[in-house]
Amino acid sequence: METKIIYDSSIDQNLIKDLKVSVIGFGSQGHAHALNLHDSGVDVTVGLREDSESFSRAQEMGLKVENLANAASDADVLMLLLPDQVMADVYNSEIADNMKEGATLLFAHGFNIHFKEIIPREDLSVGMVAPKGPGHLLRRTYEEGSGMPCLVAVEKDSSGNTHEIALSYASAIGGGRAGILNTTFKEETETDLFGEQVVLCGGLTELIRNGFETLVEAGYQPESAYFETLHEVKLIVDLMYEGGFEWMRHSISDTAEYGDFSRGSRIITSETKNEMKKVLEEIQSGAFAKEWMSQAREGAPFLNQKREEASAHQIEAIGKDLRNMMPFLDAKDIKKDK
Ligand code: NDP
Ligand code: MG
Repeated sequence: METKIIYDSSIDQNLIKDLKVSVIGFGSQGHAHALNLHDSGVDVTVGLREDSESFSRAQEMGLKVENLANAASDADVLMLLLPDQVMADVYNSEIADNMKEGATLLFAHGFNIHFKEIIPREDLSVGMVAPKGPGHLLRRTYEEGSGMPCLVAVEKDSSGNTHEIALSYASAIGGGRAGILNTTFKEETETDLFGEQVVLCGGLTELIRNGFETLVEAGYQPESAYFETLHEVKLIVDLMYEGGFEWMRHSISDTAEYGDFSRGSRIITSETKNEMKKVLEEIQSGAFAKEWMSQAREGAPFLNQKREEASAHQIEAIGKDLRNMMPFLDAKDIKKDK
């Protein structure tokens, strides 16, 4: 089979080095893009709002920092890395009127373009470079010499080389080491939302939480429940990541494998799969996007309430104590992440 995946060897890495790049935002994705581009020899400026708490942090890391308007007017290529729910307001008020004629506007997720929250200025090229993983890992894998797979897409090719620019950018953040796949804004947006809702975030946390609660409610020690239902997930997922289900099943005991095949489908049932299809339909129809944008406009009350509830769950307190006793794991605490 001819591979569809694109690697560094077939990408012109100099293309992006001859252009001025602005990365707007210095959060999870923003800091990783800016630092990786900088370390790859790209002329990058970080664009931040006035009074941004990230201003000095980015400068201390050796990056050029500008306000949003200046970062926009400097850029041949501008990557928007703000929370999706604020992006349209910031684009309309600070970016749209300041960008150079014919510049390239990039996204790391297709949400605002696909759901038409942002209608880009007519002359701009519009593309996407979407790393398939969290920002902190995008930075870590780059520093370690590996990389994170990226998706690239072109929504509008005014310049005639938007695809080449997206590939060159993806290569400079480390994507070409792991592999880059061409996609569309529609496919990236819908599959990304589905993945995070059904498997990676929504599905996995509910699976772990319910497993943890079942053990604790049955009288087992919460420490034991934590090891079984949360800590070990990474170990099992690492095996799948390295060699698929087959490799994972080769590594676990026959007893575990028998339990896996005979019990797993009682947990994730055909009813669960039907619900997955409904979740996908809500994404495809735009109903999810509409719901989330209207929530965001009201200050995200549901999200804030759920964050508080989840933060108070026993699994967080017990996990914090246990992780602090595992120095090898570089325990994280969101309260110390600023
Ligand atoms: P973050 O929530 O981490 O972005 C935070 C940054 O946005 C900060 O620098 C913050 O400024 C700035 N910001 C927030 N609100 C405003 C505002 N009103 N005006 C100006 N700046 C503002 O975003 P992510 O990195 O999570 O997401 C960025 C994009 O990347 C999204 O499109 C997302 O879908 C996509 N993506 C994210 C992934 C992830 O790992 N998180 C994975 C793949 C794609 P300040 O520093 O001043 O607080
Ligand atoms: Mg994703």
